[in-house]
This record gives sequence, structure tokens and C-alpha cells, in this order.
Amino acid sequence: MGLNTASVPNGGESCSQRVGTAHILKCGKKEMKLIMFGPPGSGKGTYASRLGSRLEIASVSTGDLFREAKKQGTELGRRVADFLNKGELVPDEITIEVLKERISRPDCKKGFILDGYPRTLEQAWALDKIARIDAIILLIVPEWIIIERLSNRRVCRSCGAIYNLKYLKPKREGVCDKCGGELYQREDDAPQVIKERLKIYERQTQPLIDFYKVKVPFVNAECNEIDMPPEVMVESIMQKLRKLNLI
Ligand code: ADP
Ligand code: ZN
Repeated sequence: MGLNTASVPNGGESCSQRVGTAHILKCGKKEMKLIMFGPPGSGKGTYASRLGSRLEIASVSTGDLFREAKKQGTELGRRVADFLNKGELVPDEITIEVLKERISRPDCKKGFILDGYPRTLEQAWALDKIARIDAIILLIVPEWIIIERLSNRRVCRSCGAIYNLKYLKPKREGVCDKCGGELYQREDDAPQVIKERLKIYERQTQPLIDFYKVKVPFVNAECNEIDMPPEVMVESIMQKLRKLNLI
């Protein structure tokens, strides 16, 4: 927490004050800015959006923002399409602009939880200049669980709904419950590709963990059971945030 002080400019500063580790808004609510790190297949997106609702802050996924822009065929969508298709990182310059614009919107006034950002030190530095992060939530999930989850994952071609052949089966094999679309397996959900993705995640994330660990408290959230319900993970994260006096 040492460096996590008022020296960092903050958009909402004028209408709020800092008390201890918590940032109290005029409305009496604590402002909260969180980052969620977690390997692919850890349930990061699910936890981030549920935590966002529980804490009444926006959950912001750069991956979702890019996918949406691509789908809408906007200027941004055209710029990022190639990177998304290849599974490569979108250049920092674009990503940082998108993130800045997103967190300047009114729904982020009370705070936000970032999912998929930052992915590079450059991105972390850029965020550092505009926001003070209250905590990092680090999802720790053993490799076997990730492989088991992702290799059984099926996605609907039409609506994007996600199923799991073992843990969240569609009613009819190969068919989406919601829209009747065809279910398929993403190419990068094959076990050998998953292992590679995990290595990439670790290579990308370690420097970010090192960057934050000297200045932001960490909430480690461990998942050791394959069928652990999301609510259980979310509740355990909430408890740890409470312990840190953040909520
Ligand atoms: P995943 O990498 O698990 O498929 P995401 O939804 O987080 O899921 O990201 C999808 C794609 O969006 C990435 O492959 C990358 O091209 C792009 N992307 C998302 N976030 C970032 C980021 N912070 N920096 C660069 N590219 C990003
Ligand atoms: Zn569907």
C-alpha cells in the first residue's frame, strides 16, 4: 500500500475524500477500483461481472469492448480485428485509449473492476497516471482444472453462449439451448493449446504482479474444486475485501 497514496491524480478526487485505505464518496459509498488477474478458463469474466454487480461498480473487459467494436464494424473494430483473429495483443496505444475512454464514462464514477487490462507494463503505467487502484484480485486455479474446463467447453456459433460438456451440458447434444445454434469447440481450447496459453498468461502476468505487489494489496482467490459455484468464489473475495476494509 506504500505508494498507493494521494500522489496519483484521480478523476473523482474533487467530490471525495480518502479515509484510511478506503475512498469515501460524497454519497457515503466507498469508491473502489479493482483489477482482476486470472488465467484463461479461471472464470475471470464471470467473477468480474458478478463482483461488479455486488459492489455496484462497472465491470470493464477490454476483450468485450474489442469484440463488440469488431461486431459493430466501427473504426476501432476494423483496427483491432486482425489482432483479435490471431489472438495477439492489440497494440498498447489503441488499448490504452479505449480503456481511458471507457473508465471516463459516468458508470465508472463509483469505481470499476478491470478484466483483461492491464496486459503489459506500458498499460499498467498508463493506468497508474489516471487512477489509484485499491486492490488486485488474483485468481489462483490449478492447471488440471483449467484444462478440464476449457477442453470440455463448447460455444454457440450463433449467440456465443458457453456450455461445458461435463458441468453445464446443453439439453440437446451439439445444440444451443438458447437459440438452437450449433455448438463448436474453439481451436484454442484443445489441451495442447491450453497449456501454451497458460504459459503465455504467466509470462505476461508475472511482471504485472511484480509491478503492483509493492503498492497495492492483493486478494488471492483460490479455486481448488472444479465445480465450485461462482457465488462461493465471489463471496470469498467479498470477505477478503471486507478484511482489507475496502467495503
Ligand atoms: P482471451 O485472451 O482469454 O481470449 P479477452 O476477452 O481478454 O480473452 O481478450 C480477447 C482479445 O482482445 C485478446 O486476444 C486481445 O487480442 C484483445 N485484448 C483484450 N484485452 C487486451 C489488452 N489489455 N491488451 C491488448 N489486447 C487485448
Ligand atoms: Zn446460441
